[in-house]
Amino acid sequence: MEMMNVWDVARKQLANVAEKMNLESWIYNKLRECKRSLIVSIPIRMDSGDVSVFEGYRVQHNLDRGPAKGGIRIHPQVNLDEVKALSMWMSWKCAVVNIPYGGAKGGICCDPSKLSLKELEHLVRRYTSEIGIIIGPEKDIPAPDVNTNAQIMAWVMDTYSMNVGYSAPSVVTGKPVSIGGSAGRPEATGRGIAIIVDKLLEKISQNIENTRIIVQGFGNVGGVFCDIISKAGAKIIGVSDVSGGLYNKKGINIEALKKYVAETGFIKGFKGCDAVSNDELLELECDILVPAALENQITNKNASKIKAKFIVEGANGPTTPPADEILQDKGIVVVPDILANAGGVTVSYFEWVQNLQSLFWSYEQINNTLLKIMMKAFDEVWAIKEEKKYPTRLAAYVLAVGRVAEAVRLRGIYP
Ligand code: NAD
Repeated sequence: MEMMNVWDVARKQLANVAEKMNLESWIYNKLRECKRSLIVSIPIRMDSGDVSVFEGYRVQHNLDRGPAKGGIRIHPQVNLDEVKALSMWMSWKCAVVNIPYGGAKGGICCDPSKLSLKELEHLVRRYTSEIGIIIGPEKDIPAPDVNTNAQIMAWVMDTYSMNVGYSAPSVVTGKPVSIGGSAGRPEATGRGIAIIVDKLLEKISQNIENTRIIVQGFGNVGGVFCDIISKAGAKIIGVSDVSGGLYNKKGINIEALKKYVAETGFIKGFKGCDAVSNDELLELECDILVPAALENQITNKNASKIKAKFIVEGANGPTTPPADEILQDKGIVVVPDILANAGGVTVSYFEWVQNLQSLFWSYEQINNTLLKIMMKAFDEVWAIKEEKKYPTRLAAYVLAVGRVAEAVRLRGIYP
């Protein structure tokens, strides 16, 4: 499979929109770089007594609209270019939904499945300490991403708090509710994607009950999305995770699959479905394909074989620019990551606001406010798409980059 460097992908997407918008060259030149990139080494005493050293990163792309925001990923493929791309995408994502943040991302190059719980805790705590010089409630607020969860966010919060000498819940989002987390945060990204799917179906006057969906990835994003959208009446006919894929044209029982995954860790071996490979899964016929695993999944190698009518990007960067062009020629509408998966950062923003005020909102208030923000962002993107006859990604980029550029223009160049 063609593996594009994701930083090149992110920059190419910016170059495309800058040209369409006639963006001033000084703003373009500023936005094609990241403001700050920190590389840290993380020595950990392993259970064996030996010391292993891992590499970690925290990158802040742009802070003109507010403090930096972005998840922490722990994965063996993490590298500086990937983190830079993800941080740039965070700047656009926060701007699409118009929340007052800049973009950031963090990562540790490590396979967490090879660590004991104690080793993982040490890894996260030492990483947090090392990046402590650039994070903080008013500077940069991390959150969960691939292979990181609420427990890990609790360790980030505790480590930062120990270092500053007081409890600082607003330094990180995606925490457990009992230490300042927000109601609704664990499912926010999946819920946001479901809202986008609803809006899309409304546009084409299609009933949710007649909608067949395939989802790549069954983690925090893909798993939750399957749960919410199947309860709303859609049929999940295909799903995959790192262990492989499942297909059942009559619809997969998501409740039972969730139980199975809770017991075994993976979807592989779940009864009543055909086993398919991850590559095959993406090429099966369906109404909506939701890639919700990693980058670089829909490329110029498989884009021409995709039979979905719509692609809604749950993952960040699953489609390469050459694949985008092929999909466009085929008439497949792609709702881009920066809009489709923005529900997570939106509820993270609510969590931060609640922490700063020490005043908590109800689950209902969270979900209603998320719904309003996602629907407004969708409508704004769709209006640009229709007016300019742009593909959805370009329309979302025009909105997002336009908002960031406006902030850069107003603030000017220091000194
Ligand atoms: P996760 O670790 O909870 O889940 C990842 C899932 O992808 C797992 O089921 C894993 O088995 C599967 N997977 C990994 N490699 C795969 C492969 N080659 N083929 C098929 N499946 C594979 O991570 P997550 O938080 O669900 O994140 C998934 C994507 O969504 C990432 O791109 C992430 O950046 C993006 N995202 C996450 C959030 C969030 O709030 N967690 C928000 C916005 C975007």
